[in-house]
Amino acid sequence: MRWLLFFGALVGSGICGRDKFFGDQVFRINVRNEDEIRILTQLVNSDHFKLNVWKSPSTFGRPVDILVPSVSLLPVKSFLKSQGLDYSVTIEDLQALLDNEDKEMQHSEGQERSGDSFNYGSYHSLEAIYHEMDSIATDFPDLASRVKIGETFEKRPMYVLKFSTGGGKKRPAIWLNAGIHSREWISQATAIWTARKIVTDYQKDPALTSILEKVDIFVLPVANPDGYVYTQTHNRLWRKTRSRNPGSRCIGADPNRNWNASFAGEGASHNPCSEVYHGSHPNSEVEVKSVVDFIQKHGDFKCFIDLHSYSQLLIYPYGYTVKKAPDAEELDDVARSAAEALASHSGTKYQVGPTCTTVYPASGSSIDWAYDNGIKYAFTFELRDTGHYGFLLPAKQIIPTAEETWLGLKTIMEHVRDNLY
Ligand SMILES: [Zn+2]
Repeated sequence: MRWLLFFGALVGSGICGRDKFFGDQVFRINVRNEDEIRILTQLVNSDHFKLNVWKSPSTFGRPVDILVPSVSLLPVKSFLKSQGLDYSVTIEDLQALLDNEDKEMQHSEGQERSGDSFNYGSYHSLEAIYHEMDSIATDFPDLASRVKIGETFEKRPMYVLKFSTGGGKKRPAIWLNAGIHSREWISQATAIWTARKIVTDYQKDPALTSILEKVDIFVLPVANPDGYVYTQTHNRLWRKTRSRNPGSRCIGADPNRNWNASFAGEGASHNPCSEVYHGSHPNSEVEVKSVVDFIQKHGDFKCFIDLHSYSQLLIYPYGYTVKKAPDAEELDDVARSAAEALASHSGTKYQVGPTCTTVYPASGSSIDWAYDNGIKYAFTFELRDTGHYGFLLPAKQIIPTAEETWLGLKTIMEHVRDNLY
């Protein structure tokens, strides 16, 4: 009976049927010049080695991380050698990391079932996150409410938590987005932790309390629910949405190339099989459209923050052009203060700058759309780490990551509070 229950739990969480990565490794390739960027761009764009890009070739000096399937290990190594490229193996045994993550998650879920409390130091199913959002709203009805903003391609609800002390009065607002790329699990985990932090610290932390006296905060912890479920049932490294592409066998679009900001420009792909496919038209992804509609209907958002992983960056518009944003200086100052506050927690270092020249050109991104639509304070956090675990950040780093990020978020929110426009 116990075995049956155990087996049932595995099937229920879908882990059993998930893609395996036996023998696969993650390589870090150091880039020293434009020539090497060009060679690597060709390598990752060719279908030949079935590579999965974790960190794309970009601005000179930034290393490139790629997941190499076991069958391609030898050919990729000899290719890199033949081109004189300098590389190292950052993850020797990907499947071992995944197995460990599954084991921890199941252990924690088992404990939660018997104790009925949400363990913030663990990764969760979509269902568990939604349940916790409901609990936050139920526990703090005067401060928090759960709002449905739409449905996903696969008809799952999309929920945000609204934090307001305005008693129904319309106030300027801050949007905190997470999990638009489904495999970046630390972002969803940080967002739900942040939601609980807001209700816990209100009226205890004077800074947060004064922020909430002036503005409302909206938190969307899982901006790509279909993708998130898919990372738990089929492929842990799924990034895109799960929409169908007519005429292609490939599924989904990159929801962070799908916003109406220089749509289909540099840094996005026309190929539906690409990880950075922009979708058929701006807002073609219903998950993006739901957020756009909600924000436009509200009409008074002053700040839009998008949580991603990994790389430890705090970046601001633009991604679609090297041109400086009109407010670049102010955004840079705010981002630097936020990164400093974040580092004061445990020394985690963030790099700060505009997306395009700090990371890579990226058109159709959420913060560029926000900025071009009058939401001046637009930032993206690329959370921990810098590549040691990449997307597979161990659960024991969730709380330290969320705690330090909170200091950065609060710095930005205080600036918004003091500089409403
Ligand atoms: Zn991302």
